Amino acid sequence: MFNSSEVLTALEKALNTSQLYMVYQPIFNLRTQSISGFEALMRWNSPQMGMISPDVFITLLEDSGNIISIEDMVIHTPWDVATCWPDPLVLSVNISALEFCDPLLPQRVRKNLTACGLPPHRCQIEVTETSPLCDSQIAAKNMMELKAIGVKLALDDFGTGHANLNYLLKYPFDTLKIDKEFVTGIEPDTRSTKIVEGIISLAHNFGIEVLAEGVETQSELDRLMQIGCDKIQGFFISPPVLAEEIPTLLVQYNH
Ligand code: C2E
Ligand code: CA
Ligand code: CA
Repeated sequence: MFNSSEVLTALEKALNTSQLYMVYQPIFNLRTQSISGFEALMRWNSPQMGMISPDVFITLLEDSGNIISIEDMVIHTPWDVATCWPDPLVLSVNISALEFCDPLLPQRVRKNLTACGLPPHRCQIEVTETSPLCDSQIAAKNMMELKAIGVKLALDDFGTGHANLNYLLKYPFDTLKIDKEFVTGIEPDTRSTKIVEGIISLAHNFGIEVLAEGVETQSELDRLMQIGCDKIQGFFISPPVLAEEIPTLLVQYNH
């Protein structure tokens, strides 16, 4: 077994090498019954340790204060990949809540959008909540600036992380992503269904879309459609795939 400092040292060496790469999971729009975009998820294949989950290595980097070095990769590679997707497919990237405290974030995003030529309305940033959004004034300012550029904002893991209802007052999210925990085995009259219905109704009152994560079965998809969920992701549509496999998924779902 490896301890966290060994993992961190190996990770720092892996930055900017092919050990770290992106995979893409389709976002399926239940209204249009087609793929409306892809979420980029990072993978680390270490020669010594094998595949390591981003849940593990992103947290390690956040704790070490070195998250920006990896997030730079998030706002480069997938955006270049997305420029060749048909309009209006949207690319969604995960950016750690910690990074929303960096006042230079909107500037970095703007610079990168110009460089890769991806229209801002085809970019979404998911605020990934492993830690609370720090200085709420900087975070709010960053989000307003990103919205002004035209970038969309999603709140990840709604209902399980640090995100609370207060976030809906403070921040201009376009989408709430409901964690898999509430989606698994969603059946009529269960508590999960009532919670998801409540979130959908609340979000729609604010003009916010709802995406359910971790959909693995037809019956989960049917139930979510019935209760007015806008979008889904999950193994039922497709697991995350390499960029080269995206055209095949588009032929399958968007003909
Ligand atoms: P997340 O953003 O909530 O991503 C959803 C996770 O659920 C992904 O795990 C995805 O592979 C997995 N998943 C998708 N559909 C299903 C399903 O139907 N069933 C099950 N059981 N799982 C499903 P993954 O790729 O291991 O990522 C874990 C977390 O790591 C992500 O959770 C996100 O918080 C973080 N992460 C991944 N890539 C990045 C990144 O580039 N930057 C940052 N800051 N965080 C990242
Ligand atoms: Ca996410
Ligand atoms: Ca999640």
